[in-house]
Amino acid sequence: MDRRLFIQCIPLLAVSSGLAAQNRDGSERVDPTSPNAVALGYTRDHRDVASRWRKKAQDSEGLQRCDTCAQFSGEQSGEGRCRIFSGNTVSASGWCNAWTRR
Ligand code: SF4
Repeated sequence: MDRRLFIQCIPLLAVSSGLAAQNRDGSERVDPTSPNAVALGYTRDHRDVASRWRKKAQDSEGLQRCDTCAQFSGEQSGEGRCRIFSGNTVSASGWCNAWTRR
């Protein structure tokens, strides 16, 4: 992640507790309609990226997915934790503008 994007994400990291759907492990599933998710263009399916983000999301032939992102870990049943969203759960096939190559 470049420095500018990281700095843009700091406020999101600080306030990302307002997320929905708690999982068994205590993490919460990121709600794509929450303000933080909307700000980063998060979607549960990388093929449904909003038009404003599409050029970036698809610039590497569909390889930009949460499960190929450096921020993603602990995949289980198609979901895993994302450091950008305070360790809460995102879809393995999701995407957001903070995607970073592993
Ligand atoms: S930072 Fe990476 S793992 Fe987290 S939502 Fe964005 S693309 Fe997915």
